[in-house]
Amino acid sequence: MDTAKATALHARASAGFDGRVESARRLLARAAAAHPDAIVQASSLGAEDQVITDLIARDRLPIAVATLDTGKLHAETLALANAVRERYGIFVERYRPVQEAVVAFVGRHGEDPMRKSVELRKACCALRKVEPLGRMLAGRSAWITGLRREQSVDRAAVELEAIDAEGRTKLSPLADWTWGDVWHYLALHDVPYNALHDRFYPSIGCAPCTRAIALGEDFRAGRWWWEQDGAKECGLHVAPASTPFAAAVAP
Ligand code: SF4
Repeated sequence: MDTAKATALHARASAGFDGRVESARRLLARAAAAHPDAIVQASSLGAEDQVITDLIARDRLPIAVATLDTGKLHAETLALANAVRERYGIFVERYRPVQEAVVAFVGRHGEDPMRKSVELRKACCALRKVEPLGRMLAGRSAWITGLRREQSVDRAAVELEAIDAEGRTKLSPLADWTWGDVWHYLALHDVPYNALHDRFYPSIGCAPCTRAIALGEDFRAGRWWWEQDGAKECGLHVAPASTPFAAAVAP
């Protein structure tokens, strides 16, 4: 399989980079102080989230780091969670789907039914991602995401700080960062990142639903690429009315 160091390919700081780093640090520090023992970084272990984890560790902020272990993650993603612990001494909390629900879903629809219909794909995401996210956020008043405006049209209006449908503070400290900024930061601080990024995966989700992209393809072209319609989101950052867990996630 072809590989190329993602840092060499993408690290390009844009004008104002240092200022954006400082703004992100201040935002995280302020949020940690405002939500003692009640703030979590919901990390996908993607490139952006690794920047945020590094910022948290750098300033020793009392912010928990957690991920959704869907049962469908790549081995490289799981390995990165261990690398975070080794590098920073931070234990990445893992929230898994309810086992009985997974057994029932797989028994009824098969192991990987996501390509049969958009509805089944969304049902799988609701089961493996959205419901565990609700548990991750339970008892917490603030959460942090790696969303950036540049990632897709649907994310173009992401705010640095917002209030989600449950009244929680939702922070996206890299909302105004470019992809080049993210990689410049990772390279500058030698931050561990997912090995799949070196294999042309810019956006990494579950193994059956993620592929590498070709030169010139859209940033999220490698996610649910067989679907033609609608936003390529899993329900973590959108709340479709039909989702039973909609109340637990952000708008
Ligand atoms: S991304 Fe794919 S495997 Fe993961 S929860 Fe969604 S449909 Fe299921």
